[in-house]
Amino acid sequence: MIHYTCDRCKRQINTDSQTRFIVQIDIQTASEHAEAEFEDDVDHLNELHQILEGTHESVLAGNDESETSHSGRYDLCSECYRQFLKNPLGRDTVLALGFSNN
Ligand SMILES: [Zn+2]
Repeated sequence: MIHYTCDRCKRQINTDSQTRFIVQIDIQTASEHAEAEFEDDVDHLNELHQILEGTHESVLAGNDESETSHSGRYDLCSECYRQFLKNPLGRDTVLALGFSNN
C-alpha cells in the first residue's frame, strides 16, 4: 500500500479507498514564435530545421527557462481536486463577488 500526500492540504491519500488526482502544470511564455505557428507554417518549419541543425543554439541559450516557464506535478486528494476545479487560478472569490456591489 502506497501512501501519497496531498500537496494542497498535506493530508495522506490512501489510494486503496481514495482517488488520487494528479495536476500537471505547464506554464510557458507566449512568444512570437508560438503565435507565428498558426499564421506562418513555413517560418515554423524553418525554425525547426534550424534547431535540428544546431544553428538555433544562441536563441535557446538566451532563453532563461526559470523565468519564462514553469512546470510542476502535484498530488491532490479528491476534496482539494474539487476546490482546484472551482478556482484553478486561485482567484480571489471576494473580488469576483464584489462586481455586484459596484
Ligand atoms: Zn487535499
